[in-house]
Amino acid sequence: MQTIADAAAALEGRERILVFTGAGISTESGIPDFRGPNGVWKTEDPKNFTLRHYLDDEQFRRARWKGWFGDDRPTFRPNQAHKAVVDLWESGRMVGCVTQNIDGLHVAGGLPAPAIAEVHGNSRGIICVEHGHSHTADHIRSRWLAGDLDPHCECGSILKSTVVLFGEELPPAAASRARTFSLGADAAIAVGSTISVFPAADYLLWVADRGLPLIILNMGPTDADEMATVRLDGKAGDLLPGLVSALRARPA
Ligand code: NAD
Repeated sequence: MQTIADAAAALEGRERILVFTGAGISTESGIPDFRGPNGVWKTEDPKNFTLRHYLDDEQFRRARWKGWFGDDRPTFRPNQAHKAVVDLWESGRMVGCVTQNIDGLHVAGGLPAPAIAEVHGNSRGIICVEHGHSHTADHIRSRWLAGDLDPHCECGSILKSTVVLFGEELPPAAASRARTFSLGADAAIAVGSTISVFPAADYLLWVADRGLPLIILNMGPTDADEMATVRLDGKAGDLLPGLVSALRARPA
């Protein structure tokens, strides 16, 4: 059986580690993943999360704005795994973090902007679908609170959060930063992801394709297990802090 010590040994001498995160890093913060045992796809139809459906279904848009601006929106906080990513960055051995998550918890946990590529967007910003005009959440929220339950842009276009829906391109700036991280990496750690969503997974797999070490930390199987140098099954909040402290005890 492989251990954290094996993962730390595989990363010996590596100073530009790519960290690739998925929904599983945030389940310990209380946010369900998509494909895990309690994942969103157990109760929701993925077809509802397409851009087409969002544009066509006013009731769906109203429900999304209510979920975002309504009183019952829960507050989520970064967990030990998000903090471990910051620790690794501060140790100087990380090229950057490519996250598929839209929850903003890496940023909330203190990872600075140059260290992160949110390739599926985030729920901090609002844009108009037609022209990409950007709006602040505060402004749209005040309109929503005043009774505008399906707010549109001044240009007439439907508004949406900057979360990437199925059928949308990745945000160009984040995609470009992710590519730079991936091509500059000398190893990779994947955390809490089935590594099954493309093109995001390419940023991770390009590193493994170059014969560089790939560590996978996940509860349950992933689509890239056969490519892993070391694969550990367990909770991100246990495994990643353990690995980062082993790396800090064993400088590059
Ligand atoms: P996924 O649901 O396909 O896979 C998550 C994996 O993490 C599963 O294998 C699950 O067993 C594992 N997991 C769950 N809890 C874990 C834990 N505590 N420690 C370690 N592993 C754990 O998610 P994905 O690979 O990120 O891809 C699906 C899509 O999900 C992405 O496009 C992402 O945008 C979206 N998503 C994001 C969030 C979020 O922002 N938090 C939540 C749900 C879905």
